[in-house]
Amino acid sequence: MNMERDFKLGVKFARELDGKDELKSYRERFYLGEDELYFDGNSLGACSKDAEESLLEMLEIWKKNKILMWNIEDGKYFKYPQYLGSLFVPLVNADANELTVTNSVTINIHQALATFYKPTKERYKILVDELNFPTDIHATISQILLQGLDPEEVLISVKSRDGKNIEEEDIIAAMQDDVAIALLPAVMYRSAQLLDMERITKAGHEKGILVGWDLSHSIGSVPHDFKKVDPDFAMWCTYKHVSAGPGSNAVLYINKKHFGMTPGLAGWHGNKKETQFLLDHKHTPGPDADAWLTGTPNMFSMAPIEGILKLINKAGIENIRKKSLLLTDYFIFLIENRLEKYGYKNGTLEDHKRRGGHIALEHDEAYRISLALKEKNVIPDFREPNVIRIAPVALYTSFEDVYKVVDILEEIMLEKSYERFSAERMLVV
Ligand SMILES: *Cc1c(COP(=O)(O)O)cnc(C)c1O
Repeated sequence: MNMERDFKLGVKFARELDGKDELKSYRERFYLGEDELYFDGNSLGACSKDAEESLLEMLEIWKKNKILMWNIEDGKYFKYPQYLGSLFVPLVNADANELTVTNSVTINIHQALATFYKPTKERYKILVDELNFPTDIHATISQILLQGLDPEEVLISVKSRDGKNIEEEDIIAAMQDDVAIALLPAVMYRSAQLLDMERITKAGHEKGILVGWDLSHSIGSVPHDFKKVDPDFAMWCTYKHVSAGPGSNAVLYINKKHFGMTPGLAGWHGNKKETQFLLDHKHTPGPDADAWLTGTPNMFSMAPIEGILKLINKAGIENIRKKSLLLTDYFIFLIENRLEKYGYKNGTLEDHKRRGGHIALEHDEAYRISLALKEKNVIPDFREPNVIRIAPVALYTSFEDVYKVVDILEEIMLEKSYERFSAERMLVV
């Protein structure tokens, strides 16, 4: 399947691909170390000059305007959550007022479930999958407990057949009449499997189930089409492929068909803008996704989103996806042709329709190899039990970077340098 691309071994070919790369100039916008190969952009994207500039600009705005900052530029900063939300329109094809930037992914899951989870005797279960990121499950269990229900009875977790991927048929088969809500990740954080969101959402809706998606691992590398998928709600972080900085705020999407519902977690910034400053104790929710806002927006954790999203939109999410797939195809080709003899294995599905933006490189010694990589100035990340995640983020990774990391992965095996490290886990890996 990679052969159709006609990849070749050797650095010359990597340079040829770089030569043809229409996004190569974007790399200059990012702060990358001289001899460093950064492949952990799916945990924390690299800082760009664009994100830096919009953050510094926010400081200037505060310095100059103080409280008046909320009113300048036609209320841009007062309406900043939705303004930033609108910058995600090209990435997900939703209406601008269905998107708002607020809180963290975890809190947005709480918010969505607090709003949409209304268990009845007949319909009270929540469907998740066993490979999702833990915080999604923690939040879901809290919400079940807050309803006075027993998670053992209520939570259905779809099992993986191979420990890496979840079959869509298995999700659909679990969509029984007692399921109220399904909450699923678009891309699996470990294996990079991309689910068929449209098919699953449609199947859920046919069963009367509300379907919500966590896009944390796909946003910024995989384009989405919410007009087609028609999710009920969604959320995602902005610090992974989007690269808006550590702890930058998350996005919450509420399908416009749910506008007018009472938000589960109310706060004064979710009140209608026109009457917010009447400071009435009666909460009057806004007419759109902003109704789900809570407290004062975290302006400094939001500002970098403005700079980086403008850069992403200039590059175009379709172009980013095209390059991202070529980078990961090329990497898979090199794994298969150069690294398998050392015990490395590609753990990511090859079908483009089923693959996100990173590669799960498997090896029995993955943990110690990931430490040996760091010693050689390569930053990957490790996920239990045997996965090195390599994310070649399209805006700042070159084909030669991928070539170099393969060289280094080979070198580590030839030198056996990983053997010098202890297999005991560190706090953050
Ligand atoms: C990264 C990630 C999160 C992170 O949640 P925060 O509240 O931002 O810490 C949640 N869910 C998934 C699926 C993720 O990949």
